[in-house]
Amino acid sequence: MLDQTRVKFDVVIVGGGIAGLSTALWCDELGLSALILEEKKELGGQLLWVHNEIKNYPGREAKNGRELCDAFLEQIGKRQFELRLQVRIAKIDPEKKEILLADGTKFAARAVVIATGIRRRKLNVAGEDEFQERGIIESGKKNADSVAGKKVLIVGGGDAAFENALILSEAAESVTLVHRRKDFRARPEFTEKVKNHPKVTIFTETAVQKISGGERVESVELKNLSNGETRKIAVDAILIRIGVEPNTEQFRGTLELDENGYIEVNRNCEASIKGIFAVGDAANPLAPTVSSAAGMGATAAKVIFSLLNL
Ligand SMILES: Cc1cc2nc3c(=O)[nH]c(=O)nc-3n(C[C@H](O)[C@H](O)[C@H](O)COP(=O)(O)OP(=O)(O)OC[C@H]3O[C@@H](n4cnc5c(N)ncnc54)[C@H](O)[C@@H]3O)c2cc1C
Repeated sequence: MLDQTRVKFDVVIVGGGIAGLSTALWCDELGLSALILEEKKELGGQLLWVHNEIKNYPGREAKNGRELCDAFLEQIGKRQFELRLQVRIAKIDPEKKEILLADGTKFAARAVVIATGIRRRKLNVAGEDEFQERGIIESGKKNADSVAGKKVLIVGGGDAAFENALILSEAAESVTLVHRRKDFRARPEFTEKVKNHPKVTIFTETAVQKISGGERVESVELKNLSNGETRKIAVDAILIRIGVEPNTEQFRGTLELDENGYIEVNRNCEASIKGIFAVGDAANPLAPTVSSAAGMGATAAKVIFSLLNL
């Protein structure tokens, strides 16, 4: 049933990563009522996938993203804002600033802040969904022990692919790195070490066509993009690092997005429709970092405060 509830907030924040949390913190600081809508079952966004140390967030270091996230949550737990977890947004009307959830609940706001971040790009090949956590691993750092003595395939040509090749080759029997292009985006400090590593084989101009197996991953089909030849190789574990893409599909056609789908904003974090803001990684900051996400949240809340009090 549509239109069960209609609650008006000063600010509705879509996304509960650091950018969304910082916006909510600053809304409370400035006396603005705020609601965070988060689709996952917990807050934190990408920080929950960071298994390495975070040494560059001003004011504190953390042994991983979860530790830094917990510190944010402890701080924000002392603030006033409303939260709905595991929500699915059916429709956002940017002009009216109304948000309809899949369960029919409708919220209205004086301003909307989009903080939906990014997700890892997928290969979109057969077997990719089926073998998640059944051979397709989440992180080199987190899963390093699980690949001891195994054959690992890494897909990608950037720093993340190469850095993980070095991490995983410590315990793995072998690492095969495949990349669609001839050249790599990764920094030479990584590529040189990987190219010279005795356990690593690199296939360039090669794409993964299919992932197969039984209970777990057993093989992949690779296609050489320059001559069209295919081959099947045995693998036990796969790590996919082919970049990221923004969670902005819901805004295509209403807000201005750049050619990669990131939301265009001005220096006040304002998107192309008045009263709609975008913060953090979804707005393609020059430095997609915890600091930028936190800073953009503060900017959006302060700009909203001044606009609402004109
Ligand atoms: C492996 C790794 C290591 C990193 N290391 C560092 C580091 O050392 N230092 C550093 O500063 N930064 C680091 N970063 C980057 C940093 O984590 C991000 O820049 C920052 O967390 C981005 O926060 P965000 O809130 O903009 O987006 P995200 O963290 O992506 O949060 C977006 C949130 O929105 C939710 N969402 C998406 N779509 C919807 C929707 N339609 N409805 C409701 N909710 C939605 C998502 O579930 C998510 O919770 C690292 C990132 C990774 C992946």
